[in-house]
Formats: sequence, structure tokens, C-alpha cells
Amino acid sequence: MTHKSINTCDRELRRIDAEVFQPRAIASVSEWARANIVVGSWSSRTGSYEPDPWTIQPMDTLGIVGPRRIIIVAPAGGGKSTIGEVFVSWAIENAPGLTAWYTPTEKTTKEFAETRLMRFLSACPSLSRWFDSMPRHARRNEALHFPHMSLLALPANVSNAQSKHLRHLVMDETHEYAPGMVSMLENRTREYRHNCTKLLISTGSEEGDQTDVAWHDGTKQRWQIVCPICGHVHVPKWENVRWDPEAKREGIWDKRRVAESTHYTCPSCSAEIAANSANAIKINSISRGAGYTEPAADAVPRTWSFHWNCITSGFDNLGANAVDFINAMASARRGGVELMKDFTQKLLAEAWADKPPEISIAKPTNGYKLGEPVPDECLRLMAVDCQQTHFWAVVRSYSRTTSRPLAVARLESRESVREFQIANRVADNGVLIDSGHFTDSVYTACCRYGWVATKGESVAGGYVIEKDGVKLRAPCRVSESRPAPQFIEPGSVQPSCDLLLVSEELTSQVLDRCRSGKLDSWSVADDMPESYTEQMNARRRIMKRNTRDGSPEWEWRTFGKCGEHLWDCERVLLAAAYEAGVYDFEH
Ligand SMILES: [Zn+2]
Repeated sequence: MTHKSINTCDRELRRIDAEVFQPRAIASVSEWARANIVVGSWSSRTGSYEPDPWTIQPMDTLGIVGPRRIIIVAPAGGGKSTIGEVFVSWAIENAPGLTAWYTPTEKTTKEFAETRLMRFLSACPSLSRWFDSMPRHARRNEALHFPHMSLLALPANVSNAQSKHLRHLVMDETHEYAPGMVSMLENRTREYRHNCTKLLISTGSEEGDQTDVAWHDGTKQRWQIVCPICGHVHVPKWENVRWDPEAKREGIWDKRRVAESTHYTCPSCSAEIAANSANAIKINSISRGAGYTEPAADAVPRTWSFHWNCITSGFDNLGANAVDFINAMASARRGGVELMKDFTQKLLAEAWADKPPEISIAKPTNGYKLGEPVPDECLRLMAVDCQQTHFWAVVRSYSRTTSRPLAVARLESRESVREFQIANRVADNGVLIDSGHFTDSVYTACCRYGWVATKGESVAGGYVIEKDGVKLRAPCRVSESRPAPQFIEPGSVQPSCDLLLVSEELTSQVLDRCRSGKLDSWSVADDMPESYTEQMNARRRIMKRNTRDGSPEWEWRTFGKCGEHLWDCERVLLAAAYEAGVYDFEH
């Protein structure tokens, strides 16, 4: 460091000290921004800076005294990162302290530092004096060392999650961070718990992930637009975005016509508000009544969350968004949900909830109904799934070549399970009841009625057994020890019961193929109840990318809230039919 630069730094430091320790009225962040920021080439708009109406309250919340955690979930390109940039500029002058700006990867960090951060700061005249006094070595794209504080741009990864203590933490695009990374980074502000800033910025993420959870921890404030005709103030919904229904000819959308005719319909007065820039200003006008919803009463203290969607920030571009939506719908109908996920997250800025794509359960083969057994029936089995207050049961009828469900039911008591068994003429040792959760009472029932207990096990690839001198992989095996309950009920037919251990993985894989209609040995009736279809669809195998090397990994997941009890029953039935020697386990 040269003598000259030391002197300059010194002077600046003394001046800052004088500034910081003098009591003065601190302008709100948005007021400060209007006075100090000159919009440069980094934005489509140039000139003196006027914050978008929906960015003002989040900005000003960032400037309040004391610790604050702010979560902004908003569309791509809707001005959300600008809030962070304005805040950082403000903080350099008004609340200095080590500040880090995280983005998802090395690449995005580099891009951000080169194309946005530097230009943003140097376009701020009141900050540019720092650059003049800054020695060259203190000024790199990804690290700016001011005399009184440093500003770093870093990728959000483990090696950058531990080191110095931060006062201000900006986490941009958190929907792309590895699980757990947000709280890891937030730990870096512990030393500043009295005045730190944690700012999360993201598009819509996935239901239940760290961004979504953080947003729900906060005040959950949604931007409301105002109808220019009737003054109705409301959170804008995509279902109110309409276009000319005549734009569809012979089943094909005329996308140009769609884009041109797209408008917003007021849910109160039904006025059609043309999607243009004049109306964009009117619907977002704070003086007309636009603004955020009230903060939620259940927010975690000092946690604020804000949301807006593309109807707010891209009103003059709704036509293009409508075309995106139509494309996403068309793709979804062909089974691809990626475009709809993109639309939901990037434009509506809503968390994506994985919904199972429509799948067809094995085509009903002979048009038979429940209650009609297979011709040449040689076996009848019933599987029972136990819940806290009720049971689910499936009865299947088997021949040497195929099987059919005979009955499906939700049953309210153990006695009604027994009645259901008798009504469907299932042999006592053909009843398989899951002992995973209510183990002792299931053993008791098995001893009372001569039923077989089952237990799912995580045995990838199944059990290795030897059959006629050949080693095979089986979906199940009978436990060598026979379990007994603590108490034997009067009238019990046996003192201990059979226990069938079932490989969850192998039976899931095979049932997945059954479900898709690929195995002749398994079919469903024409009139399966809705609960059956729902539960059979709920269990899905999804591909995940390994976070280290990106290799595909498969995982079973349950979607929706209906549960997977009947799926579990069908799995057990597959295993039991194999055990009974009815048919080979095709896989
Ligand atoms: Zn209206």
C-alpha cells in the first residue's frame, strides 16, 4: 500500500467515523435509493432510480433497526435482485459490516459480480468515491475491500459457509441451493444477532423446501393490485388472465392471437383490463390502493416474507406469459410437467408441489367387475393394512395364469375385517395382515383367527433363496421364528403365528409394472373404487440427481394426502401369491 493511499483511507475512515457517530435522521432505504442511485446500463431503464411499487416495502423493511430476516419470493426478472442490490449499496453507507452475496454456483457468482454488482455500485455516485480511494488490489470483481467494510460475492457451498462472521447476508436464488445450505449460511451471522440482515431471494421453489419453509415462517405478505375501474384491491390470480377463446381453431391455438388478446379480468367488476404498460402502472399504484396484504399474525418474530407474481411485475408482457402457459398445458397433457413447473415457479413464483402425472392402472382385461372371481380359481388371498383407527383390505382371486381383485374396502374394526374375510370366503391362512405398526395386537388377531402376520423390510433386490439347487431372488420369506403376542385371547386357534417378511423394493418394482399393465398375471376390475385408484397412483418412483456428481438416483415417494395403504396391500398380495407358488415372480 502506498503512502498516499494510506492517507486517503485514513481520511475516509475519519470522515466515516464522524458520519456514523453523529446522530442523524436515516432515510428509509427506498428514499435513500431515490436520492443516491443513478440507474445505469445494468437495467433496461436508465436515469434516476424510482423503485417499482412492490419493491418499496421489502426495501424499507431491510432498513429497519435490529436483526431482520426477509424472504422475497417473486418471478424471474421481476426486480427482486434489485432489492438486494439497493440494500447492499445502502448498507455500505448507512450500516457497514462484512457483507456476502451468495449465488448458487461459481459460474453464477462470476456472472453476477461481473455483470451486476460492480456496475450497480459504481453507478451510485455516493459510493463511487470509495472506488477512487480504493487500491487496485482491494478491488476485484468478487471481493471489494472498502476501508470500513468488505463486500464478497460467493457461491453457496460448504467451503464458503464457514469462515468469517457476517453482518449482512444476501442469499440469491435460494431455490437452487443444496438442502440445508440456507441455515448453514445463516449461522455465519450469529455474532451479529443484534443487527444482522438475512435476505433470501428466490423464484418459486418446491413445496416444503428451505425457501418455501422460510417464506411460511415470515409475514406471508402478498402484493395486491387495484382494479382501475372499480378500485377492487386483491391478490392477482392467473385464472383471471384471459384471452380470446376464438383463438383456438380446430384444436390448435393461434398463439399470436392469444398474445394480442390477453387481458386481466377484474374478479369484482369483470372489467377487461388490457395488458399494456399504462395499465401496469395503474394496477400497481400505491396511491390508488395497491399494496401488500397485512402481515400474518403467526410470523416468527423479526421475519418478513413478501411475494408478487408476473401479473404484477410483468403486466405489459402478459400475452407472452399466456403463450408460455398454453405451451405448458399442451406439454402437460402429453405427460411432461417440466414446462408447467417452470411456469409455476418462474412466473407465478409459487412453490411447485409434485403431483403424480396421470397414469393408467392396468387396462381392465375382460370387462369384469369386482366380485367376479377368475375362472379356474386356485387361490384366494386377502391383505390387510392397519391404521390407528381403521383398516384397508384387498381380496384377490388367482388362477394359474392371472389374478383379479374381488373386493376392496375400508373397514372400521377388527371384527369387521373378520366379517369381510368371511363374506369374501377367504381361508383363515389366506389373510395377511401388516404387523409393522401395531405389532402385538396384530399377533393377537393372527392367533385368534389363524391369520398370517406380514412385515415389510428394506431388502433391495429381494431375499436370496435356494430352490431346486438354484439361487433365486424372492420377494419374501417366511420368518423362521413364529412370533407370539403378550396375551392370547380366549378362543384363539394358535399360540403363535406365521410371519411373512416382504421386500419393499422388489414388490414395489413388480407392482409398478403390474400397475402399468405390463404383466398378464395381474389385472383390475372395471369398477375399482376411486380410493383404490388414488392410492395406487400415490406411490411413485422418481429420479433425483446426486448432488455431488449429478448421477441419477431413484427413490419411491408418496404423493398427495390419500395414503398408499391399498398399494401396500397389493404388494403383500404379490409376495404371498409367489410364496403360495401360484406363479413365478416376473421381474
Ligand atoms: Zn374492477
